[in-house]
Formats: sequence, structure tokens, C-alpha cells
Amino acid sequence: MRTHHCNELRESHTGETVTLAGWVNSARDHGGVIFIDLRDREGLVQCVFRPEENAEAAKLSHTLREEDVVRVTGKVARRLEGSENEKLPTGAIEIVASDLVIINKADVLPFQLDKELSNEDLRMKHRYLDLRRPRMARNIRLRSTITSAARRHLDDAGFFEIETPILSNPTPEGARDFLVPSRLNPGRFYALPQAPQQYKQLLMVAGIERYYQIARCFRDEDLRADRQPEFTQIDIEGSFVTQDDVLGTVEGLLGAMFKAGLGIDIPVTFPRITYREAMDTYGSDKPDTRYGMHITDLAGVFAATEFKIFRSTLDGGGVVRAINAKGFAGITTGQMNRLNEIAIQAGLPVKSLAFVKYENGEYKSPLWKFFTDAEKEALAATLDIAEGDIVFFVAGPRDSVCDILGRVRTECANMMELTKDSDAFNFLWVVDFPLLAQDDETGRWVAVHHPFTRPHADDVGKLMDGDYADVRAEAYDVVLNGYELGGGSIRIHEKDLQAKMFDVLGINPEEQAEQFGHLLDAFRFGAPPHGGVALGLDRIAMLVAGEDSIREVIAFPKNNKGADLMAHSPCKIDFKQLREAYIQSTYKEAKAPEPSASGHTG
Ligand code: ASP
Repeated sequence: MRTHHCNELRESHTGETVTLAGWVNSARDHGGVIFIDLRDREGLVQCVFRPEENAEAAKLSHTLREEDVVRVTGKVARRLEGSENEKLPTGAIEIVASDLVIINKADVLPFQLDKELSNEDLRMKHRYLDLRRPRMARNIRLRSTITSAARRHLDDAGFFEIETPILSNPTPEGARDFLVPSRLNPGRFYALPQAPQQYKQLLMVAGIERYYQIARCFRDEDLRADRQPEFTQIDIEGSFVTQDDVLGTVEGLLGAMFKAGLGIDIPVTFPRITYREAMDTYGSDKPDTRYGMHITDLAGVFAATEFKIFRSTLDGGGVVRAINAKGFAGITTGQMNRLNEIAIQAGLPVKSLAFVKYENGEYKSPLWKFFTDAEKEALAATLDIAEGDIVFFVAGPRDSVCDILGRVRTECANMMELTKDSDAFNFLWVVDFPLLAQDDETGRWVAVHHPFTRPHADDVGKLMDGDYADVRAEAYDVVLNGYELGGGSIRIHEKDLQAKMFDVLGINPEEQAEQFGHLLDAFRFGAPPHGGVALGLDRIAMLVAGEDSIREVIAFPKNNKGADLMAHSPCKIDFKQLREAYIQSTYKEAKAPEPSASGHTG
């Protein structure tokens, strides 16, 4: 229907007759002559309807409204001297229209496309209009660009793209499953995959050696800005690989994606830190390293302290640690309250964070009087305290102290807007995760990554001896600017070791046979050593696009109640359909309304 896209035309096309098709981005009447900016996916061009070219078309042009769909034929002409638009790539020319077809009229829009809109519900209800807005159109394009770069990179590296079932079985990735009743097998259910984990491992047993999939994953969990009930992973698995091989593959892949998306070269290899270092230094397993504010251990400074709380903590095997929020002594009361709230939520056992401020050459702190001169001096030196700084202390068990200070660190950085103008991409590997963690409530051991993760070769003995807390895993996460982009592990490929792992997790032999029999069986018939990783495509797209919610890079996302406000899913299913699937609902209609736009239901 067209000869060119709107963005293509330049002075060099002057005199050519072209046909364009798209939307009326804007229409202006200049002394009876109509000018429009015509928009298509690629860009904008100005068209002018002069009566002397075609009186009928000029007349019709007076009826044009924003977002009408039109087809324009005309000659490319230089714009009058002085009326060029330098902001537009096509700004030196215009189309002098000789023909106009109004293909489809548009009603008045529910919102303007050239303004940001804070009402997200309204945007979602008319997502097809929202996606016309330049920012969203750019995001969707960017996502496509990086996805195809990922495919190209992995294809070139010898990975096969293989689809695995969506109607599958429960997968132990740690979230709730979405269930689908099976009409043909009454009383039985499929679960939507939380990840294609077992299938990709079985593909390794099948001899595929290198697999990837742009895989949709489903997890029924509470939602937030960087979580959706369905999301997309670049899922990868390889046989006969070491951890270094997997890390290298991911570095190359992310390199290709960032090059394609932003035209930038990211580092060829990313720094690596162990989980333990990450927790000790940043209080997080996905640290943002664009700023310092490292957690500092003060055992040395307070070795001889008589300050009661510190003394008893240190004597009891706990730690005293602090961060120095440089230049943040001017913290407001509101901000301080917020920090205290965050610290308490993270488990701070007292009502407020202990702090020391250094302002106008003076230390200000409720604690200061409890410290000796030597301690004060050592503290100032260890934490590099300077004018305008504020130091936050936490004393207690090591893991808890790190966690609290990690959250305080992140929040201080937000409040100080430390990364506001940063264009840094700080990639990082966190390696040597623990294999197992103990559930606080039940006391049971759970897999930190998932049950298929391989214990570190040096720590298998500890696993056998029941020293679970100290077993490291061959597991790794890739982190960017405080976001976990993905993670993976080298897997267990031996039947006995896998069964041992299930034992530790409290899965008895009958359950093992029922839930994982296929995998344990497969491991009997020549399973190669293998490992892999999964990267969150939505998050990567979000960071490449410079957005702070993955909803901005997903064409049709759900809201925070898991609802699609445009298509009205989830929806009611009528009795007949339920009966066909042998489902009877125990839900009482009166109690809760439909999922609401605002996300609140009773
Ligand atoms: N299946 C894992 C996940 O979704 C990733 C992996 O281990 O490859 O987190």
C-alpha cells in the first residue's frame, strides 16, 4: 500500500511521487491549508494539502483528526526556506499531497499519545493505543532487537532452539504453580512450567549438547514492578561444560544484546565475587556496585569496648558492622523514619538505627559518649568519616546484620539519588551460593537454587556428613546494577547424588519416584555432565530501555492483581465449561468482586 516509510524521505527524493500510509499524528490549519504529520512505525513526515494540487483532497483534508488512518500520495518537495524542522530526520522536506484516502476514522482518544500518563489502568485498558506512544513503541522495538540478537548469538554458538511443553508438571522452582485441569484425564492437572528446568536437562541426556529457548515461565506469586505471573527467560543448557564455560557464554550473549540494543560494548568478562563476599560487603546477593558505601566490620575497633550492646554482641559471637553514607548527614527526619522502618522490617531488634553524624566539625550521636578516644579515632579512620557523613551501626548475628545494613545501604543510595544520572552498567557474577538453607519456621532444608544444583566438589563430603549449612553450590547469578538478571548452576547428573539431594530436602523415595522418576530414570542411561542458566529477558529489556518496571517492556502485561484490564483476564468460566473439566468451584461469589482495576479486592 505504500512506496516508502515516513522516516525515509530526504531532500534527495525531491520531485519523486510517493505513497505513504499511516496515522495522522497531528493536523494543523494554516490559513485554510491543512498540514499533517503523518506517522508510521518508522517515523514522521509532514504532508501538505494545497487546493491547487487536488481540490477534492484538500477539502477532504479538513476532516482529518488525530489517529485517523490514511493513505497519502504526493510529491516530495523541499520545505520553504526557514520552515525546516531540524528535530525531524525528514524535516527538510514535505509531501505535497495529490491524493488522500481516509482508510479509517478514529474516535476521540481516551488519552493523548504525546503526553506521559500516570493512570496506568487507563493505559492498560487501551494498551493498543499506549503502545503507539513513542516511548512504548521504542521499548517494544528495543526488546525485539535484543531478542533477535540473542537468538543470532546463540545460533552462531551452536545452540539448538527447542520448545518444551507448556502443559507440564509441577516444577520445584520455589513458587506456586498455575494449574490446568485435564478434561481427557478427569481429576488430573497439568501445571504450567515455572521454568523448563527438567526438560532441558533431559535434552542433555538426549544428546542435544547445546539448547536454548526463549521460554515463557509461569509463577503464581505476589507481583511487583519487576515480576509478572508470566515472564520470559532466555533458557540455556549445555553438556560437557564447566562453570567457566557457562559464564563465558552469558558474557558473550549479554555483550551481543547490549551492542544490538544500545550500541555499547560491555566488558568481555564480568567481575566475580562469592556469595559470602557479596553478603559481607553489600548485604545483598544482587549488589548495586555503582556506589560504594561498603559494609565495614568493626570487631577490631570495638575489640575492647565496654559499651554494653556491642560488648555482649561480640562476646556472643555476633558482629558489629556499619556503613558510612557519605555526605548524608543532612538526612531529614522523614528519611530517618523511613530508614528505621526498613531496618525494622528487615529484623532490626530495636526501634531505631544507631548512628553517628559528623557535622560542622563535630560528632553527633547518642552513642558517642560510650566510646573511648581510641575507639573514636579508630572508627573515624576505619570508616573514613569526613565532614557531612553519617554512619549507621547494626549489632547482632552476622547474616541479619548484613541483611539490615544491605537494605539501609540501598535505601540511602535511593534517597541520595546516587545513581540518578549514572549511565554505568555494572555487571557482576555472584558465585559459590550455598546449596541449602534452613527454613526458619519448619526447620527443613530447602534448595537455595533448585534441587538439581550440584554441590561444590570440595563440599560433597559435608553434604554426606550432614553439614548442610556449609555446603557450597556450583551456582551463579549474574547481576546488573542491583538487579538479578539471571542465574543457573552446574547440575547433578548422577542418580545417587540426585536421590541424596532429594533425601536431604525431605522428599521421600515414593515422592521421588512419583515427581522425579523420569529424571532419576534418565540418569541411569548415560547422562552427560551438564549445566546452564536462565536470563530474565523482561528485566534485561527493562534495563536496556532505561525503564524501572518490566511492564514497560512487555506488550500486554498484567497489573499487580494479575489481571489484564484490556482483555479482562482472568475471567469467569461458565458452569458448563467447568463441568467439562470436572471442576467444581468452592468460591463464594458474594465475598469478593471481580479483580478490580485498582488492584484491591476484599
Ligand atoms: N531454572 C532456573 C531458574 O529458572 C535456571 C537454571 O538453573 O538454569 O531460575
